[in-house]
Amino acid sequence: MCSSDHAHHWMLCPQCDLMTQLPTITPGSKANCPRCHTTLVANWVEPRKRPTGYALAALFMLLLANLFPFINMHVSGLSSEITLMAIPQVMVSEDYASLATLFLLFVQGVPAFCMVAILLLVNQVRLPDPLRRGIARVLFQLKSWGMAEIFMAGVLVSFVKLMAYGDIGVGTSFIPWCLFCIMQLRAFQCVDRRWVWNTVAPLPNLPAKPIAGISGLKQEMRSCRCCTAILPAGQYYCPRCGTGGHARRKHSLQWTLALLITSLVLYIPANILPIMITEALGTKLSSNIMAGVILLWSDGSYPVALVIFIASIMVPSLKMIAIAWLCWDARGYGRRDSEKMHVIYEVVEFVGRWSMIDVFVIAVLSALVRMGQLMNIYPAIGALLFAVVVILTMFAAMTFDPRLTWDRVRENSLKEPSVDGK
Ligand SMILES: [Zn+2]
Ligand SMILES: [Zn+2]
Repeated sequence: MCSSDHAHHWMLCPQCDLMTQLPTITPGSKANCPRCHTTLVANWVEPRKRPTGYALAALFMLLLANLFPFINMHVSGLSSEITLMAIPQVMVSEDYASLATLFLLFVQGVPAFCMVAILLLVNQVRLPDPLRRGIARVLFQLKSWGMAEIFMAGVLVSFVKLMAYGDIGVGTSFIPWCLFCIMQLRAFQCVDRRWVWNTVAPLPNLPAKPIAGISGLKQEMRSCRCCTAILPAGQYYCPRCGTGGHARRKHSLQWTLALLITSLVLYIPANILPIMITEALGTKLSSNIMAGVILLWSDGSYPVALVIFIASIMVPSLKMIAIAWLCWDARGYGRRDSEKMHVIYEVVEFVGRWSMIDVFVIAVLSALVRMGQLMNIYPAIGALLFAVVVILTMFAAMTFDPRLTWDRVRENSLKEPSVDGK
């Protein structure tokens, strides 16, 4: 058995840095890290056909969703109908080109690019080598920036908000958009990072004989955060994907804290300044996030008030506290319960982007509610600040190196990864 072949059997957990010997994984099952239970490798049935099918379907649905009217509204004889693209257009006309850009990128651009990337990589389309590596590198980095499903949730919340004012209807492109959201999620789910990289370039040889159950750091090895190759701890560039890195992210805590403090500073005006302006029968009313929640609650739409309260107020605040706590723990304070801190980290990583919901609600409302003299809704500066806060906290969570949480744990005898079927 040559050394490169040998490398296929070993993996450092990207979350907790535990060296693990991978068992043979039957198609349709996956191997989890014995310590932090992160999925290490998934062996999908039909690894080419399934993502190709989902990605093609998603792209087709996205095309359909952009061709026809998306949603409409009727209020006492007046009606308004918008397409998906009308949303960024209205934003630009209201001098919020920044919000329009975020919308186009997160809701349409990133998911569409990822689908094309999946098609190219999974089907091994002939591409120049650097281009193929580049696409594989950005594909997994962009994953958390695709927010099609969050926009969908934002549309549903807008419906409930507007139901009190008039009749809301869905257009021809609404169903294709829903299908697009589901298909693009499924396409991503069926692509295994390690499998993709094995088709792009072979694994480099192992730097030394690995010992299972001990962290990579103690064996002077590090995991490439992009392609999961095992490299010598001191080697900066990964020979397979070209990504630079260290055994632990350099200045991870400093970066995380700097981003966290910046977002905290912006979070205060984001909550005080108005996020949208409602103009009804000539009178202008500006409202901030909390005022919106109170209004919904007093109108009796308790579930929506709760959704907005949780997504826009509770999640960002708790997320900031959680990130600060993770940094504090990683510095060596506290009880050092790594498993608990790991759960907190995973929750922070997962829920962070959902706070964008309110920004999307404002985008939909200000595009749809154009009723001339009767009622108009405009975005306001608070919405932009809030979007920036969400983006900064996402970056703060990304710069945090989860392996720091596990560095003080005494390694136990866990050596066999658990394998379970899907
Ligand atoms: Zn792990
Ligand atoms: Zn690499």
